[in-house]
Amino acid sequence: MERTLSLIKPDGVQKKLTGEIIKRFENEGITIVAMKKVHLTQKQAEGFYAVHRERPFFNSLTKFMTSGPIIAMVLEGENVIAKNRKLMGATNYKEAEEGTIRREFATDIEKNVVHGSDAPETAAFEIAYFFNNLEITG
Ligand code: UDP
Ligand code: MG
Repeated sequence: MERTLSLIKPDGVQKKLTGEIIKRFENEGITIVAMKKVHLTQKQAEGFYAVHRERPFFNSLTKFMTSGPIIAMVLEGENVIAKNRKLMGATNYKEAEEGTIRREFATDIEKNVVHGSDAPETAAFEIAYFFNNLEITG
């Protein structure tokens, strides 16, 4: 069993895609073991994306991530990190596979609807960034 952090970004929440995205997770047998709606401050968004600090898109990305509420979820299942990345599709929706969340709903390389951890170490950091142990069910 593995866990990963999923975020529905401000564009996804605004477009009312929350139910659609959760349905895709559940259809794949993924279990949601924690969930909340939060509105990040600029500092919180910068801390979450600290690995991208030096990238040219950092300021725009962190501003976008604070532009409205997001849904944070901890997903659990076998190979759920890779499974979630596959459901999401490539970062650039134009390169994402047919049928993926980003291919179907993203409008922009930045406004790409969802976030998903990319490895066990980033999943551990990102889950702890949003949730404490009491908020995650067994
Ligand atoms: N991003 C962007 N421009 C780029 C690359 C990334 O605006 O050229 C944004 C996009 O929202 C992406 C996020 O930065 O989801 C984090 O980038 P990463 O490379 O980690 O992509 P992801 O893991 O989300 O697919
Ligand atoms: Mg990433």
